[in-house]
Formats: sequence, C-alpha cells, structure tokens
Amino acid sequence: MKVKLLAHTPEPEKVCALAMRGCRLRNAPVEEDLTKPVEYYIKLAKRLGHTSVLEHANATFNIEGISRVTSHQLVRHRIASYSQQSQRVVKPTNTQDWYVTPPSIAKVDAYRYHSGMQKIKEYYEKFLQLGIPIEDARYFLPNATKTNITMTMNARSLLNFFNLRLSEHAQWETRIMARLMLEEVKKVAPTIFEGI
Ligand SMILES: Cc1cc2nc3c(=O)[nH]c(=O)nc-3n(C[C@H](O)[C@H](O)[C@H](O)COP(=O)(O)OP(=O)(O)OC[C@H]3O[C@@H](n4cnc5c(N)ncnc54)[C@H](O)[C@@H]3O)c2cc1C
Repeated sequence: MKVKLLAHTPEPEKVCALAMRGCRLRNAPVEEDLTKPVEYYIKLAKRLGHTSVLEHANATFNIEGISRVTSHQLVRHRIASYSQQSQRVVKPTNTQDWYVTPPSIAKVDAYRYHSGMQKIKEYYEKFLQLGIPIEDARYFLPNATKTNITMTMNARSLLNFFNLRLSEHAQWETRIMARLMLEEVKKVAPTIFEGI
C-alpha cells in the first residue's frame, strides 16, 4: 500500500495553539498573543483534555492499494471525509496486482489463494462480457480487492483513530496503514502526535 499526505492545514500546530490561546483572551488571538512556544499550548490542550482545539488542524491522505476489508474499517471512523474509487466505474481486475494477500495465507497455502483469485477474475470478466453491468458484476469480487481512498481527518479524530487502530487488537493491514499515516503527520505536527 501507499500512503501519501496530500495536504494539511498550513502551520497546523500554530493554528491550534492560537485557538487554545484565544479561549483566554478578550480579543481574537493573533501571533503576538503566543507568549509561550507553540508546543506549550499543544501540550496543555492535550493534558487538560481540551482537545477540541486540535480540530482546527486537518490532514488529507491519498491511500492507495488497501483491501476493501481495510477501507471498510477506515470508513467506520465517522469524524472524517472520504472519497473512494468507485467499483461501479473502475474495473479493479485491470491490473495484475489487484488483490491483497494476507501473510498468514501466503505462508500456508499461497497457491490455493492465488488460483481462487484467478478464477474470480475470470468469472468477473466473463460476467462483464455477458453484458452484466459493472455495478452488479462487482458483487462477485472478494474483500481482498484493492481500492484507493482519499481521506481528510482532523488531528483530534486522528488521535482517536491511532489509539484504536495502532493497537495490537486492530487488524494487521489497518495497523500498517495507520503506522504510515502517523509517520506522515508526525513530520508536520510532531507535538500533537508525540507519544504515539
Ligand atoms: C479492534 C477493533 C475491533 C472492532 N470490531 C468491530 C466489530 O466487530 N463490529 C463493528 O461494528 N465495529 C467494530 N469496530 C469498529 C468500532 O466499533 C468503531 O466503529 C470504529 O473504531 C470507529 O471508532 P469511533 O466511533 O471512535 O470513531 P468516529 O466515528 O470517528 O467517532 C469519533 C468519536 O466521536 C464520538 N462519536 C461519534 N459518533 C457518535 C455517536 N453516534 N454517539 C456518541 N458518540 C459518538 C465518540 O466519542 C467516538 O469515539 C472495531 C474497532 C476496533 C478498533
């Protein structure tokens, strides 16, 4: 899979720090009101649980080549915005590498798995040749089918997402995706995501 940080709020930590500072000012906050380093306000917000100020920092990711298992787990996170590749329009079997293989299966019986996928691809493409609409032929596709999704999530929601999806209880593929997302956002907002 590939995870790319497509865009983010400019100076995300400064924006959140200003929002935090403004809660205690008579006037709307400006940069000169930050009498302490930006990191101070972010740490304070986290410590107090005043985490709504972290909603002012947004990150948009392009996530490519995850299974429909993982994209389904991702979109359960409601405090976010999503745009996903349409299986009513795009034929996923067009590429050779169109499905995800779990390492546990690859280790035990890769042959059976890949032959099954080959059969599914043949049947799916046959349905299309027979004139079945692409939106119906897709009912035959497996959970392993790869997809791409663009997601925008604010930092508060990301903290919740990382907390749940980096845990050992989360699915391995979702954990890999979450880890790659965390690496990206840490580059632009290290204090917000410190300690994860
Ligand atoms: C290990 C693991 C196993 C899971 N297994 C299953 C499963 O078997 N079946 C299943 O259906 N789901 C399962 N889930 C999904 C899980 O129940 C959540 O739907 C998903 O993780 C999204 O989390 P969230 O609601 O915190 O996120 P978001 O939807 O982004 O919500 C963020 C926060 O907003 C608040 N919030 C949002 N909506 C509401 C609301 N309607 N009412 C009150 N507060 C709200 C909550 O505080 C919530 O934590 C699993 C998740 C994990 C991590």
